[in-house]
Amino acid sequence: MNVRPLAAVVGVGTELITGIRTDTNTAEIATALLEAGYRVTETVRLADDVTLISAALRRLTASCSLVVVTGGLGPTHDDITREGAAHALGLSLERDAGTEERLASMGLRHQDTDARKQLLKQADVLIGATVIAPTIGTAPGQIVSTATGTLVILPGPPHEMRPMLATFLTKTRRTAPPARLRCAGTTESDAQVRVQRVLVRHPGIGLTVLASPAEVEIVLFADGAGARGVARAATAVREILGDDCYSDDGSSLAETVVRLARMHGVRLSLAESCTGGMIAAAITDVTGSSDVFVGGIVAYSNAIKMTGLNVTKTTLAAYGAVSPETAAEMAMGAMRGSGADLALSVTGVAGPGGGSPDKPVGTVWFGLSHSGECRTWRRDLFGDRTAVRLRATVHALDAIRRELQKD
Ligand code: AMP
Ligand code: MG
Repeated sequence: MNVRPLAAVVGVGTELITGIRTDTNTAEIATALLEAGYRVTETVRLADDVTLISAALRRLTASCSLVVVTGGLGPTHDDITREGAAHALGLSLERDAGTEERLASMGLRHQDTDARKQLLKQADVLIGATVIAPTIGTAPGQIVSTATGTLVILPGPPHEMRPMLATFLTKTRRTAPPARLRCAGTTESDAQVRVQRVLVRHPGIGLTVLASPAEVEIVLFADGAGARGVARAATAVREILGDDCYSDDGSSLAETVVRLARMHGVRLSLAESCTGGMIAAAITDVTGSSDVFVGGIVAYSNAIKMTGLNVTKTTLAAYGAVSPETAAEMAMGAMRGSGADLALSVTGVAGPGGGSPDKPVGTVWFGLSHSGECRTWRRDLFGDRTAVRLRATVHALDAIRRELQKD
């Protein structure tokens, strides 16, 4: 059985526990390990306390074949990850000559002889460790073989940690990476049930379903099936998800929209009310979006809906700003004179105020004008103001994506 090796990640630093600094490293490392085919079972954050570090590393190295530690490798009194690791593994520390030489020349900028001496502490490595020399920064990384696997120790500053993690991962045996299928227009539970029905015929595949507002990501792991098994399962799952699945290569919904628009030679424009430019921001976040995105109008007030998009006073008076009639006129207004081939409009009640019995908070009308036709539809989105605006943004991008896939 080709079972994914177990891994754990440890972030060391009292500042991380207290929230003075945000721990970004452990999540970044865990994701990289996941992508490299590990099964990450635990992420731990510890204070700069040698007893705690030693106890945690002893426990984790006994149960996981890979433990990656970040932080506590600096020159100051509270940087004691080296000592904690040495204690946990029953190894002593030795001074790495190459690192010491490099640090000694760097130490010349310190006035105090004790400060210079302290800097050299960073050259101490566990006996037998493979040293990863820093490209930036002072502390080296260390790779140590343990009785049951590998312990990797990396510095805390993210820009120092990243290249060393990459170096380690290129050296390590890659097991089957997971398949990641991104979906929109389906719910977490619907996606999970559909996928599980397919996975009955694909043993040895682990499944995780990750939901974010209006999106679902399906992650398939090789839990025995190997790389080919993951690829086969991903094909079958993609088939069952159909049009709900928009990417299998990590690309975002906005990236998918830009790619499809470029492929079909379709130029896009927008008329946004309750999303206030969020759809335009998502599209322009994508490199090269200028090839397909001509622009948009944030028409928040009725006045701008009229002057900027030619929505008529009669329409607004008769049906209101949140209505199919207004959504249609907004979409057509965004087409006019813009040179776009496809225009999408959004107008809704984001809340918390402004709702009414027939148009409660979360009522959003969309309009889409393309190929000489304009259609409108309503969605009742749930959540607070932030959630409604985000869901409307994702839904709008997904509507453009589905329209472009018809071409
Ligand atoms: P250290 O290696 O413990 O001396 O950490 C040096 C600096 O790196 C800290 O002051 C933080 O700014 C940063 N750092 C340490 N650990 C982390 C982490 N887990 N996530 C993000 N930044 C970190
Ligand atoms: Mg620290």
